[in-house]
Amino acid sequence: MKYDVIIVGAGPGGIFAAYELVQRKPDLKVAVFEAGHALHKRKCPIDGDKVKSCISCQSCSIMSGFGGAGAFSDGKYNITNDFGGTLYEYLGKKQALDLMRYVDEINLKYGGEGTKLYSTAGSRFKTICIQNDLHLLDASVRHLGTDINYVVLENLYAYLKDKVEFFFDTPVASVKALEDGYEVVCKDATYQSKDCIISVGRSGSKWMEEVCKDLDIPTESSRVDIGVRVELPAAVFAHLTDELYESKIVYRTKKYGDKVRTFCMNPKGAVVNENTNGIITVNGHSYEDPAKQTDNTNFALLVAKHFSEPFKDSNGYGESIARLSNMLGGGVIVQRFGDLVNGQRSTPSRIEEAFITPTLNATPGDLSLVLPKRILDGIIEMIYALDKVAPGTANEDTLLYGVEVKFYNMEVEVDKNLETKHKGLYIIGDGSGITHSLSHASASGVHVARNITSR
Ligand SMILES: Cc1cc2nc3c(=O)[nH]c(=O)nc-3n(C[C@H](O)[C@H](O)[C@H](O)COP(=O)(O)OP(=O)(O)OC[C@H]3O[C@@H](n4cnc5c(N)ncnc54)[C@H](O)[C@@H]3O)c2cc1C
Repeated sequence: MKYDVIIVGAGPGGIFAAYELVQRKPDLKVAVFEAGHALHKRKCPIDGDKVKSCISCQSCSIMSGFGGAGAFSDGKYNITNDFGGTLYEYLGKKQALDLMRYVDEINLKYGGEGTKLYSTAGSRFKTICIQNDLHLLDASVRHLGTDINYVVLENLYAYLKDKVEFFFDTPVASVKALEDGYEVVCKDATYQSKDCIISVGRSGSKWMEEVCKDLDIPTESSRVDIGVRVELPAAVFAHLTDELYESKIVYRTKKYGDKVRTFCMNPKGAVVNENTNGIITVNGHSYEDPAKQTDNTNFALLVAKHFSEPFKDSNGYGESIARLSNMLGGGVIVQRFGDLVNGQRSTPSRIEEAFITPTLNATPGDLSLVLPKRILDGIIEMIYALDKVAPGTANEDTLLYGVEVKFYNMEVEVDKNLETKHKGLYIIGDGSGITHSLSHASASGVHVARNITSR
């Protein structure tokens, strides 16, 4: 079967590439291959009752399917070059921001209208942070919320489904370069196209490595972020989250000079499990609908680890630490901050007696048996630093869930069009290692679609 463009992966990168192709050249024959389910079939079996923890489904509904890893996310579209990816290194800062704003417009058009855009511009917290040795990064954040994010995806699918051919539950096994185009090989058939856009996200990272090996595309991997998810009463961070929603705060540790940062802040949200290649780590989300909100706020504290030669497998390092927590806790471990600094494990009764109700059913345990000392010291130092701008952060009952790992896909060698050395083969989104967020991944899809249609 022949197409003009084949897109592998229906996450934000793939969806926005398809959207822009259809907008610019409606007569193009476009196919999207997605390993996971259609949106309405995506359902994680964990119900907290019969199924309490991850049962490792063949296709993880949290990470895969229409909408990609972002489908049940908090839907925070950060419009910034300060974090979320390095798209600007390829496109320039202005173009990268313009594309993110364009993505924002589409999200508003397809159901996001009325959602709030937060901004750090002119915020008094910037000064308060600096005075306390903390650094607040600049960003505008469109918070769709998990519920509206889902509605936007439903509407985008309704718009695309008759214009683009979708193949769900169809993982692509391999991609072959032909003389004049590409062939994607699936279990029961092969399909050909002139151009091919690969947007397989984090869940496709191992597969992406294989494709790059097969097609001799150079790659580089050197970074992984490791840490915990912090959960505390929403009131502790309310002065920050009410004004900024998401605050990305960076701290440099005194002891090692490592950078620790807050990441993925979810006011009145819930902590959730995340399954990456069979390893259970922790993440978080929150809803726009007040009826679904909780009394807690959660955010990650991550320490960036960069490796230099000869070590290359930074993700393998992160996986090993996450595996250790899975080995000890059968999944995610939860510990009270007070227990951690007092050198004792948390027990079910200590968690029960705490003045905060955990939103994730995790195993009470001891994170110091899992996290390397350097990382743990950095996290503890940062919690005390945050306590100065948000008193109560270093409370004994503050919950720490571990481990949270932010895996970075290896960076694939592409040019400013995000095109590999093979003409017409583009690698975008988180799978390229260039983006790590909804807005950057979506923007990369638009960029590539424009490049293809302008040729
Ligand atoms: C719980 C959670 C919350 C998050 N919250 C936020 C947030 O609030 N803000 C933010 O900016 N980012 C957030 N993120 C990150 C964000 O979701 C990702 O950065 C974004 O989804 C990346 O988009 P993508 O299209 O590159 O990849 P993905 O969204 O990962 O999509 C890739 C798709 O490709 C498919 N695929 C993989 N391999 C194959 C194959 N071989 N054949 C066919 N299909 C394949 C996968 O099934 C998947 O559906 C969150 C992530 C998670 C897991």
